[in-house]
Amino acid sequence: MNVYLTFDIEVWCNGWTELDARFPAAFERYVYGRSAAGDYALPKTLEIMARHGVHGVFFVEPLFAARFGVEHLATIVALIQDAGQEVQLHLHPEWTDEIRPVVFPDKPFKRQHLCFYDLDEQTALIRLGMELLDQAGAAPLTAFRAGSFAANADTLIAVERCGLRFDASLNMNYPISGSDLRAEFDFYQPRRRDGLTLLPMTTFRDGFGRLRHAQVGACSVAELQQAMEDSAARRHPCFTILSHNFEMLRAGSSRPDPVVAGRFEKLCRHLGSNRELLPTAGLASPAALDVTAGPGELSRCGALATARRYAGQAVRRLWH
Ligand SMILES: [Zn+2]
Repeated sequence: MNVYLTFDIEVWCNGWTELDARFPAAFERYVYGRSAAGDYALPKTLEIMARHGVHGVFFVEPLFAARFGVEHLATIVALIQDAGQEVQLHLHPEWTDEIRPVVFPDKPFKRQHLCFYDLDEQTALIRLGMELLDQAGAAPLTAFRAGSFAANADTLIAVERCGLRFDASLNMNYPISGSDLRAEFDFYQPRRRDGLTLLPMTTFRDGFGRLRHAQVGACSVAELQQAMEDSAARRHPCFTILSHNFEMLRAGSSRPDPVVAGRFEKLCRHLGSNRELLPTAGLASPAALDVTAGPGELSRCGALATARRYAGQAVRRLWH
């Protein structure tokens, strides 16, 4: 079983007004997250992974750079690639109408989700994202993830048209994700569809029987560890975990969130010391991912592991 430790890397300006005035501080927070305790956005994330020898897949959002300059995207790409990690494509089309000139002059208004664009528009946006990452020095891309998991059937066609091999956009926990694909198949396991390999977010059953996606900021380490072990025992082909460049930061601040930071360190230590059972893999080279396995039951974790998440959340509320 491969473990895909994936990150969505994005910069936001805390609203859509005064973008140019807000961008420098936003970039500092989202990319570096500087604080007295350390740089807990990308630098600390990459440092922890390097220390434990863990591989990650960094889905980088490039459209912001068409507004503010490719040099900013190049900074992000260099941080990730210099740490030996891989860059792939993430898209938040919210930026489309903020780019000058606007990308689609016939529709110069904000459309948040990729699934609000038609097939040709989605193809154009993915191509634009790939061009920006290429200009920023990214190695050839193989994989895509839609912002907010808001992909539809056209997205999969567009991703394949653009020559990518993996799509990681589907997530059963987000109703908007693949809404026109749900009648065809569920998104619990990877599968082949036409020329693409679909790598959905891993969903597991928590200790109280609820469905949960495997996100660092939203699960206890015990939940992730137990769900991964259970997935391996059930011979699932992979376990896909989500995090973000800002996930170890407190909301609206560059100071670290000690609960999530401690969690990420523990998760990477666990992955680094259990490489045989839980090898972290990438998507840059043709991955040895066997998607022929049957659908299989969802993995589970114990009630105590979920109780720990509630305890962690209570601690975080005290801190915030
Ligand atoms: Zn995103």
